[in-house]
Amino acid sequence: MHTSLVAALDIGGTKIAGALVDGNGAILHRAQRPTPARADGDTVMQAVETVLAGLTASPLWGRATALGIGSAGPVDACAGTVSPVNVPAWRGFPLVDRVSRAVGGLPVTLVGDGVAMTAAEHWQGAARGHDNALCMVVSTGVGGGLVLGGKPYAGPTGNAGHIGHISVDLDGDPCPCGGRGCVERIASGPNIARRALENGWLPGPSGDASAAAVAKAARAGDPVATASYDRAAQALAAGIAATAALVEIEIAVIGGGVAGAGEVLFAPLRRALRDYATLSFAQRLIVAPAVTGTDAGLVGAAAAASLGHGETPVPAGRG
Ligand SMILES: [Zn+2]
Repeated sequence: MHTSLVAALDIGGTKIAGALVDGNGAILHRAQRPTPARADGDTVMQAVETVLAGLTASPLWGRATALGIGSAGPVDACAGTVSPVNVPAWRGFPLVDRVSRAVGGLPVTLVGDGVAMTAAEHWQGAARGHDNALCMVVSTGVGGGLVLGGKPYAGPTGNAGHIGHISVDLDGDPCPCGGRGCVERIASGPNIARRALENGWLPGPSGDASAAAVAKAARAGDPVATASYDRAAQALAAGIAATAALVEIEIAVIGGGVAGAGEVLFAPLRRALRDYATLSFAQRLIVAPAVTGTDAGLVGAAAAASLGHGETPVPAGRG
């Protein structure tokens, strides 16, 4: 019997979500607020505290034994601080300390959102049963995380698996991170849309120029739209192949809005992987869409807290 619960926070540039999660990964109670991303640091923290109050008010709160936070990065799990790129007022913000005080000293575990999503996919999703995996979120940015030796690997500061900022184009375009030719600079949704527009793709009458609209055009046979997804797939494949060469992953799981393009992305990605993942041990690498969806951040933060707390989450389907 697993009667204890874990509290989870998922902090992003758009929303702050909270939940109480049981030992099977089921969400029993939720709270959510929009992120006042342009406000001062204390105002952002007040939104977090409102979400926490929504959790502590639940009759189930007394069963919570730990709290996990998955936050937009960079994070510093050692220092307990976060500096989310999309929340400018939080730079080195002492989130763990502030959350811990708000919840009466429960043990708090902090990981980056890529690591949280990876923990969720390993616990409940497409990476389940795989001891070595790369999980990626391809949307406005490109994030990721690693499972190594059967466990999510967060790295010393909680940022391991930052595949979006591996350079796959040595003399490529400057990236907002300060690097050049990063996977994200080529494969993120906004960059897929930008490249299609620059090469002459015209949005339909609705004016929708998003990556999803480019995917729709590619599905209808538009060559410029198709080429933009092919290029994104090539960048992702190069990053995945590099990861496979370094740490021998068995599976690459891809989620996020851009993965919603389906075969428009996955077909050229599998083709490009054959070009880049050529070493014998990397050739068996499989690619799969993520399955945990919008709750991945919460479920993963709960898994990270359970692991950080010395417990192993019960695999889905048991318990
Ligand atoms: Zn970069």
